[in-house]
Amino acid sequence: MKKLIAILIACLPCAAAVAAEVERSEHAIKTLEMYTRIIEVESSKNLGNVPEIANYLANELLAAGFPQEDVEVVPLGETASLIAKYRGDGSSGKAPILLLGHMDVVEALARDWERPPFELTSDDSYFYARGTVDNKFGVAQLTSTFIRLKKEGFVPNRDLIIAFSGDEESGMLTTRMLAYDREDLAEAEFALNSDAGGGDLDADGNPVVYLMQAAEKTYVTWEITVRNPGGHSSRPRPDNAIYDLADAIKKIEKYRFPVRWSEMTQTFFEETGEQLGGELGDAMVRFANNPRDEEAADRLAIESSYVGTTRTTCVVTMLQAGHAENALPQSATATVNCRVFPGVPVSAIESALRQVVENDAIEFRQLEEATESPISRLRPDVTAAVKKAVHARYPDIKVIAYMESGGTDGMHFRKAGIPTWAVSGLFMNPDEMYAHGLNERVPIQAFYDGLDHWSIILRELAGNQEQ
Ligand SMILES: [Zn+2]
Repeated sequence: MKKLIAILIACLPCAAAVAAEVERSEHAIKTLEMYTRIIEVESSKNLGNVPEIANYLANELLAAGFPQEDVEVVPLGETASLIAKYRGDGSSGKAPILLLGHMDVVEALARDWERPPFELTSDDSYFYARGTVDNKFGVAQLTSTFIRLKKEGFVPNRDLIIAFSGDEESGMLTTRMLAYDREDLAEAEFALNSDAGGGDLDADGNPVVYLMQAAEKTYVTWEITVRNPGGHSSRPRPDNAIYDLADAIKKIEKYRFPVRWSEMTQTFFEETGEQLGGELGDAMVRFANNPRDEEAADRLAIESSYVGTTRTTCVVTMLQAGHAENALPQSATATVNCRVFPGVPVSAIESALRQVVENDAIEFRQLEEATESPISRLRPDVTAAVKKAVHARYPDIKVIAYMESGGTDGMHFRKAGIPTWAVSGLFMNPDEMYAHGLNERVPIQAFYDGLDHWSIILRELAGNQEQ
């Protein structure tokens, strides 16, 4: 009983949702049905199950009246993409809008989970399963929004195109195909991604801020290796691969890349600092006003949530050295993972690291080609549409742009010249988000509250006044 009261106090608006349970809209029922169905398909890499989701969604769209020629499942290896076009009447003369999401998920080991990861389960507060957040929420919502708008007789004034990838969490080969190989998609004016962005709630469920993802840092990894002739460990040499590598690692640890900023990151710090207040919030506001304020920059540098927004970061994540306990090491290798500030070429980071380690004998090997993507500056029309959807739920909440330190499909579209903003309809407490982790969950309230998000945005950006 005590628990029930606590829930009621923490969540007064939930009472309305409970009361409404008996009268869910057709759209709500359809979205939940699709969400449940695609969550049941274990679409982790190499299992070959993504096409099942793509075909299911395609069939739902066909059943809702989308013509066969506008709904396409594109196989690629074991996975697939889904491209679905909602044809406009062309009256605006504007190029299409792309709508992004991914149908694959990160692996989930059932034995580690408290609940079955590939079955939608719930308690009083949450839906649980792998993909509930990342990204089957977005995939189900975008697809059901197409179906809903079609049923409502909506005719957009420009084409709207769903482009769902099938391996965002691994190789991003489907993403590259969608972003670089399709002329029909390349015509798009911009893309809206369901896979990031969204609203933050505090621990009491109060809205804090809504974030539009407008940029992503570049992900790049090097292996740095020291080699040595080695020998018998009873006869130590003055030079030693492990000691040399350790020296290099300590230098990387101490090195801080120079502060970088953009209009977007400065606005982010100003708004977030004002919301947060206190000594940390004050440092953010001072950094926003003057990024050369070293004291403020130093304060932000010790915050793991914010340091990445102030500069490029590199960190040693793995080590490998030696071959026998009684032999001098013949090689020692460290893995250095970097998140590079947009606009800084990866080659400049490698040069900087080579200077930092001060040892020409250290070999650098970049593991994979990095995807450098530009910042997508906010546009008034897109921001206004997102604000309309956000404010329908939470009037007055601030809508601001941010830079992602991780990576999504958006980076390839931005690189291909299509400005991309990630504007998920999900509001939740970031501390409760277990995307990629155990017991991934979405508040049930947030699921239902987000149902109008995409239709408001699409009507705003592609609707005629009288519709
Ligand atoms: Zn994702």
